[in-house]
Amino acid sequence: MNRSGANAQSASITHSEAPARLAGIQSAIEQACRDANRAREAVTLIAVSKTFGAEEIWPVIAAGQRVFGENRVQESQAKWPELRARQAGLELHLIGPLQSNKAADAVALFDVIHTVDRPKIAYALAEEMSRQGRRLPVFIQVNTGAEPQKAGVLPEAADAFIAECREKAGLDVCGLMCIPPAEDVPAPHFALLAEIARRNDLPDLSMGMSADFEVAIHQGATHVRVGSALFGSRPRPA
Ligand SMILES: *Cc1c(COP(=O)(O)O)cnc(C)c1O
Repeated sequence: MNRSGANAQSASITHSEAPARLAGIQSAIEQACRDANRAREAVTLIAVSKTFGAEEIWPVIAAGQRVFGENRVQESQAKWPELRARQAGLELHLIGPLQSNKAADAVALFDVIHTVDRPKIAYALAEEMSRQGRRLPVFIQVNTGAEPQKAGVLPEAADAFIAECREKAGLDVCGLMCIPPAEDVPAPHFALLAEIARRNDLPDLSMGMSADFEVAIHQGATHVRVGSALFGSRPRPA
């Protein structure tokens, strides 16, 4: 796909490459949906554009992608208003950790939030949504690998936290999100997330990244978050 002949992930995307990169990922998603006997419409591709600038994101928008994910509020404020002015109908998902002092900015800029993982952030978001009159769907992040350094509610605390977000905070909880430990086989983590969602009647599962989105689709992912396979390797760690 890359004209220099290098691996598609080794260089960031250019205008001429964007349609082929996007089509390649779309066809891999289609194939995974066929293999899993699922409808293609059941899976949303979130193009993860963190660390890339508006000039690298624009070609992907021009190639037809409308749903994007970012992991930092401030970085997103610097590039998305301009992109949204150029293209209507973009949908922006916050997939990175959120501090409660950024809740107002996050509610104003994003359309979906994937990383609700503690009461403080749940109530801060609920308050901002009612203040701004913007009721956003949210995912609850589950730390399926119980990694100490990773965000997310522990699996054994998930049911109670989901109930608190729905009943006490009044959030519109649409589903669950996870990032499996890098060193683990991902499928059991995806299956655990799917089981917690099932028993809590949550329809959406945000799981699967560049390396494992096909596995995630087999396990029921409704939202796959694909960054480097589309945009190339990131210039600096996110
Ligand atoms: C960066 C990131 C992704 C995308 O990762 P790739 O491996 O580049 O596809 C997905 N989800 C989250 C939460 C991320 O921070």
